[in-house]
Amino acid sequence: MASLLVTSLPNVFYLTGFRGTAGAALVGASESVLWVDPRYILQAREQAEGAEVIESKHGILNAVGTWLRKRRVRRVGYEAAHLTCADFDRLARKAGTRVKLSPAGSLVEELRLVKDAEEIEKIRGAGRITARAFEHVLSHVRPGVREADLAAEIEYRMRKMGAEGAAFETIVASGPRGAFPHARASRKLLEKDELVILDLGAILCGYAADMTRTVCLGEPSRRIRRLYNAVIGAQQRALESLRNGVRAGTVERAARQHLAARGLASFFTHATGHGVGLEIHEAPRLARGEKAKLPAGCVVTAEPGVYLRGLGGIRIEDTVLVGSNGPEILTPAPKDRWVLD
Ligand code: ZN
Ligand code: ZN
Repeated sequence: MASLLVTSLPNVFYLTGFRGTAGAALVGASESVLWVDPRYILQAREQAEGAEVIESKHGILNAVGTWLRKRRVRRVGYEAAHLTCADFDRLARKAGTRVKLSPAGSLVEELRLVKDAEEIEKIRGAGRITARAFEHVLSHVRPGVREADLAAEIEYRMRKMGAEGAAFETIVASGPRGAFPHARASRKLLEKDELVILDLGAILCGYAADMTRTVCLGEPSRRIRRLYNAVIGAQQRALESLRNGVRAGTVERAARQHLAARGLASFFTHATGHGVGLEIHEAPRLARGEKAKLPAGCVVTAEPGVYLRGLGGIRIEDTVLVGSNGPEILTPAPKDRWVLD
């Protein structure tokens, strides 16, 4: 029976419980071995119950290669998406010619797709903190405040509420800057009548949440109100489609058609959503033509948006559990309190 060499750290964490910033695991039918460097030896022994922990002082993949050669292992799969060419060479050199190294697909990512009850509880906790941090920060969102200060306040609040930190760099994008879907929070001050996109997510016990709300600093024009309602409607269509067994591409189409019917398809420039779990972006991708079916227990975002040069952007995003009885929103922050006077 061949074994799999796991070099993606989230995958190592998923399989062994070890959460350091360097390490590799070999998992087979009957054994699992974890290599770490001296910094992590104590932590690994504590976290990775059931795995044999090996300390490697001269490079983790050198140690793995030597181990494979000495154990006369014949076949090992490796994570082609998570091993650089240089690391592969190092591994192959040490392992010798008798070991056949073959690329394996995203085996662990496929296991991670369906979350168990414990994982869902962690994402639910991260989502709750995210939603509460947003509600708290709403009172700070006003003209004259710096984007970067708002982002700092959000991240501080999430930590105070028990999060390990932010799952990604918090986005606060106001006015024309909102037209860049992934703008970083800058030194720009918020101004009256601007739209402000806030994209935030807490991390709890290793699991992430991801949520976006858009607010308007003043009475919105008819055009902005129309755009906002279109995005809310598109997200609603996406949420309604998130049923056990739906194809990823169908969710994308549900949101896109709603915007297309309002002449806005060309302003929706990214996918409708992505999986969330140990990583902020993981499988599946809710993008055009994706055939993968979403099983119950899968956690994804639904995040349509429109981006208009000069005017700004509107995006609404929630983290959602695909349940056997329909979708459950895990980031329960209001969407109707978007006009801030
Ligand atoms: Zn987001
Ligand atoms: Zn997202």
